[in-house]
Amino acid sequence: MSDFLEKFKSEHPSVLFPAIYNYNHDGITYTIYDGDEFKLCEASDGSYHYTFDKSNGNFARWGKTYEDDPEYCPAGPEILDLEIASGKCKGNCPFCYKGNSINEEAVNMTFDAFKSIIDKIPKTLTQVAFGICDIDGNPDFLKMMDYTRSIGIVPNFTLSGIDLTDEMAEKVSKVAGALAVSAYETDKNVCYDTVKKFTDLGMDRKVLIRRKKK
Ligand code: SF4
Repeated sequence: MSDFLEKFKSEHPSVLFPAIYNYNHDGITYTIYDGDEFKLCEASDGSYHYTFDKSNGNFARWGKTYEDDPEYCPAGPEILDLEIASGKCKGNCPFCYKGNSINEEAVNMTFDAFKSIIDKIPKTLTQVAFGICDIDGNPDFLKMMDYTRSIGIVPNFTLSGIDLTDEMAEKVSKVAGALAVSAYETDKNVCYDTVKKFTDLGMDRKVLIRRKKK
């Protein structure tokens, strides 16, 4: 057992890592320890480490010393941004950086396409930031988040909240890691109500507010 893993286990004695993955890159082996609560990564030459707490999103990366901050993980990405829907969006924001609007045609990624993408990415990945339009726009969104969880990766996304039903909020709160809620100056109550819905459902440390002008 490496010093890194031994130290982590001494601090978290009940944590188990049922899945272990190895990736070789430029003569260095990157080992991923994947458990229900934590994901860890360490390079065989000690040049790269991370710890990721799946329950609260805390992520720490360092190199040979805690002062080193490697720019990226040579074995694969730590975070993935993935657009699974584009086009039609009830938000209809004039500033939409994706060019979405109420009048566009909806274009959705299929579950099979999603699976083929995420299955190719090394298990260095800790989180996926899903890019969506309407929360119910892509019919496979919840299925994609469930699958992401099942392979040890935390699903996150940003929403406006204008089309969030109580039923959808409850489903999302069971699988999503963290959420960002856009706050529009034209109707801040939509944001506040959305945040309250999720905090009432127990996501009290995982909801972020993003301010947008409309
Ligand atoms: S809610 Fe987001 S995706 Fe939809 S139109 Fe507004 S900025 Fe674009």
